[in-house]
This record gives sequence, C-alpha cells and structure tokens, in this order.
Amino acid sequence: MTMDSTVSSRLYEHALRIIPGGVNSPVRACRSVGRDPLFIRRAKGSKIYDADGREYLDFVGSWGPMVLGHADDRVVAAIKDAAGNGTSFGAPTELEVNMAQTIVDAVPSVEMVRMVNSGTEATMSAIRLARGYTGRDLVVKFDGCYHGHADGLLVKAGSGLATFGIPGSPGVPEDVCKNTLSLPYNNPEAFETCMQQTGERIAAVIVEPVAANMGVVPPVDGFLETLRRKTHEMGALLIFDEVITGFRIGLGGAQEYFGIRPDLTCLGKIIGGGLPVGAFGGREEIMRRMAPEGDIYQAGTLSGNPLAMAAGLATLNALMETGAYEALERNSARFWNGMKECVKEAGIPAVVNSMGSMGTLFFTGDPVTDFAGATRCDAERFAHYYSLMLDRGVYLAPSAFEAAFISMVHSEADLESALDAVRDSLERLS
Ligand code: PMP
Repeated sequence: MTMDSTVSSRLYEHALRIIPGGVNSPVRACRSVGRDPLFIRRAKGSKIYDADGREYLDFVGSWGPMVLGHADDRVVAAIKDAAGNGTSFGAPTELEVNMAQTIVDAVPSVEMVRMVNSGTEATMSAIRLARGYTGRDLVVKFDGCYHGHADGLLVKAGSGLATFGIPGSPGVPEDVCKNTLSLPYNNPEAFETCMQQTGERIAAVIVEPVAANMGVVPPVDGFLETLRRKTHEMGALLIFDEVITGFRIGLGGAQEYFGIRPDLTCLGKIIGGGLPVGAFGGREEIMRRMAPEGDIYQAGTLSGNPLAMAAGLATLNALMETGAYEALERNSARFWNGMKECVKEAGIPAVVNSMGSMGTLFFTGDPVTDFAGATRCDAERFAHYYSLMLDRGVYLAPSAFEAAFISMVHSEADLESALDAVRDSLERLS
C-alpha cells in the first residue's frame, strides 16, 4: 500500500480508520490489483473523475447499472422531480405500479413482480419463495456464479462434480450450506446426473444465464435448455438471476435472447438507474404465494422507494427508444473485435469473452467456459494490465474476474482511444 499526498490517498487513510478496509464493498479496495482505491467525486456520460480531478474513461459503470452513462439528464431530472415530492412514504405509489408494468411488459416470463432494495434481497427472496412453493429445501447453484451475499448463496464448491456447498465465509453456518449444491457451469451432463440423483429434493436451480461474476462466460449451447427441461421434469423452479443481464442484453434480458422462460427472475442494477434497487418476479401462480396474498413472508421499509422508481423508470423509458440497443451492440461488437486484434498483435496468451455490451479479457490461452477455466488465468498479469490501463486513463474493474461494461454514451472516439490504451498496454506486457 502506497500512501502519497493525493486527495484519494488522504481519504483512504481516513476511511481505513473507521470503515473496515476503507470501503463499503470489498472489491472496491482494489487489493487484487495491488493498488489503493481511487475515491470518486463525480461522473458524467462515459467519464468518471476522481477526488483529485483526474478523468478516466469508465468501463465499470457502477458494476452494471449505468447503461445510459453517468448522470443522464433524463434520470437526473426524474430524481429531482421525485425528491421534491418526498423521498419515502412506506405506502403504495403510482410510480411503483408503472415500474411493475414496465417490467412485466418487457421481461417475457415475468407476470407479477415485487420490488426490493438490492440484488442480494432479490435472490434471497426468490429462493424463499421457491422453497415455500415447492415445499423443498435444496438449492442448486453453479461454481463461479454470484448471487449476492445471503448465507445460503455464499457457498464455495467442494471437490468433485456435484458437491454440497461449504461456507464461503466465516459466519455462514455449515447447516445452511448443506442445503446448497454447487455444480460446474456449462456442464449439462453434471447437471442431469445431479437432477437424476437429487431432483425430487430440489426447490430451485439458480443461475446467471450469462455468467458475469467470473468474468463474462456465455452459456454453451444446450446448457440453459437442459436446466429448463430437467427442472420442469423434476418439479424444481428455475431462477434466472438477471441482476446483470436484465435490460442489458436487450429489453427482455437473457431469457428473451435465448428464448427460455424461467419460473422466477431476479433483477437489479439497471432497473434502479443507479439507485439501490432489486426485484423478483415470475409466474403469477407462484408470485401469488407472497404475503399478503399468500403465506410466504417478505417485506421492506424502503421497497419501491419513489426516488429509485423514478430513476429506474426514466432509465427503462430511455432504453425503450427504438434503436437504443442496436447501436450499443454494434459499438460493443466493434470494440471486442478490436480487443481481439490487439491480443493477436501482442502475441499474448489471452482470450476475449463477450456478450453484447459486456466482456472480459482473460489472460489465458485456453477458452474460458467455466470457473475452473477462469481461475487458470494469470491474475498477476491482469494486475499489471489494470495498472497500465489506469495510467492511460481507462478505469476498469479491479479484478480479473469481472465484466467490463460499455454504455450507450461510449462514443466511437471513446472506444477507439480505449483500444489504443489496450494495444499499448498489451505491448508492454508482451
Ligand atoms: N446477482 C448478480 C448476478 C450480481 O452480479 C450481483 C451483484 N453484482 C448480485 C446478484 C447482488 O446484487 P447486490 O450487490 O445489489 O446485492
């Protein structure tokens, strides 16, 4: 850790004394890339500015939500307008009805939806609902997928193909983890075997339909289809965690793109336009089991918060403008292809995985299709690359296992200059 005289370093020093690790979410501390965190003062469009006034081209996008870019005028106006009318009532509002209708109209499998305050709350609530609905306890997840930090989802895979989870953190009881099975991502055979053996005890199978928390790893042909078929056969619910993919891979998320209808869907990030939000929804018959209509309890003082609904609706309305996604996809495809060219030119063993406007450069020569593959990448080389990119004014997620996000306001010039930085950085690594 280097302590210099920048505003960021002074703030960090102060923060370290009163906030664990100096941050409110661990990855922000930048430990895996050996840097001190930059404290951010503001952001606008595709640019982010640190507390020392330095400008960076932002590919973090607040880890996904900022698909319109930062401080979009429409979103800012909606938040100001809502704030003037009161920031929280703990009572129903028209805004949340509009939000629910927008989600139901856009996301193919969602017939009813409930708002919560984070992605973690969304997955936690969806799992409770699935357990209550099926009367079963076991949950299947996949190695390398992240679904927030609730006990039962914060588990590590043990050894072997189909394993009961072991706690991913002190404080997570083994008793809870014994209800979570962890399987390799993109391995339909392992899944079929597990369902054959345990299917009748499984309440839910939760998956990131495009994994984005081990770096971006798209599903192989047949993987999601197998999940759908086998869960249906065994009476387990299929939960798509679209906290990242929702409204990023098109309006209908990954489920629309791949043409697969999960029973329940978790959303977050984009639907809050940068304010704290999550949602879970799905088939009406299942959702009607939620209290007060049904017997499965879940609640939240700030759920459906008017500021968050206003920011989210302004974002979703902007996304519904025709052509919005087409332009994003076109620019993104050009960028990922450009990155592949840079890798080739540098002659470095690295692969680029991407899906629409999200992607990851993995420093490994082999294709990355699962967590084991992702962890084979050279994390030290990534740390070096991260620093070289930062020095060239490009702000990336400070971990080898994250996605880079492109927004609708990343201009062609922005992306060209980012590619120049990639080319230059990779050259220095080779
Ligand atoms: N699910 C997925 C797929 C996520 O990527 C995340 C967070 N990155 C979560 C759930 C948890 O969301 P939150 O951080 O809002 O609790």
